[in-house]
Amino acid sequence: MPPVFRFAPSPNGYLHLGHAYSALLNFDCARATAGRLLLRIEDIDTVRCRPEFETAIYEDLAWLGLAWETPVRRQSEHLGEYRDAIKKLAAQGLIYPSFESRAEIAKLVAEREAISPWPRDPDGAPIYPGAARSLAAEIRERLIRSGIPYALRLDMARACSRAGELNWFERGSGPDGQTGLVRACPEAWGDVILARKETPTSYHLSVVMDDALQAVTEVVRGSDLFWSTSVHRLLQALLELPQPRYRHHRLVLDDSGHKLSKSTGSTGLRELRAKGVTAREIRSLVSLP
Ligand code: GLU
Repeated sequence: MPPVFRFAPSPNGYLHLGHAYSALLNFDCARATAGRLLLRIEDIDTVRCRPEFETAIYEDLAWLGLAWETPVRRQSEHLGEYRDAIKKLAAQGLIYPSFESRAEIAKLVAEREAISPWPRDPDGAPIYPGAARSLAAEIRERLIRSGIPYALRLDMARACSRAGELNWFERGSGPDGQTGLVRACPEAWGDVILARKETPTSYHLSVVMDDALQAVTEVVRGSDLFWSTSVHRLLQALLELPQPRYRHHRLVLDDSGHKLSKSTGSTGLRELRAKGVTAREIRSLVSLP
């Protein structure tokens, strides 16, 4: 069976040099191994994703010289599959609803921080400080019946004890140069959200489900997602899904050493193209042969 690679952008902005590097690397790896390349549109964020960004993704990638298989998987068309995964986890007693608003969570964190530093996840966000996990069943039912929106969270301690120790073999490297066999630390993320208030899934859940449903064997992506792999390995174990091989790659940084953002005009592929930069020059701008 040929290896299966994927490039999985979110249409919440225009592509920049960082995306170009990741997409071209996946394309080159697929070509070098006689593998397949899939394109997946990660459009579950209904607020930030826009059709014009999706159209621009196809244009920019085609301009770069990429070819991918069709039909393209769009996550927004597969919400039922994510709901089924949530049901499986719920049946294992690993999911609970949490009702706090963002402001309430921020307030809880501030209260904790006034006493001592509150733990942060690998992305730097405070881990969930709320107590929804231990709400009495009747209060939970009453809140749900009242129509108040809620997110579904993973009971991390329980999930970790069910799954046991997990690891993955890293073929690239993490933010601190981690490579080879890496021990997954999903507990560092706290009780992550698996289904958001506004959509029945989340990044972690849909990426894990799609990699499995699309039979992806090679995940090649930026090292900013390195520690997310811990959560992905945990969900794969709980949902009995196969584990792909992982290769996290360096990030393309701006002149001041920061990760590129969606709004970085000067590194946007459309801006560069408009200035007359060629697709071949993009390769050398991101130091690819
Ligand atoms: N959609 C994610 C992003 O644009 C990438 C997901 C992944 O490669 O796992 O950052």
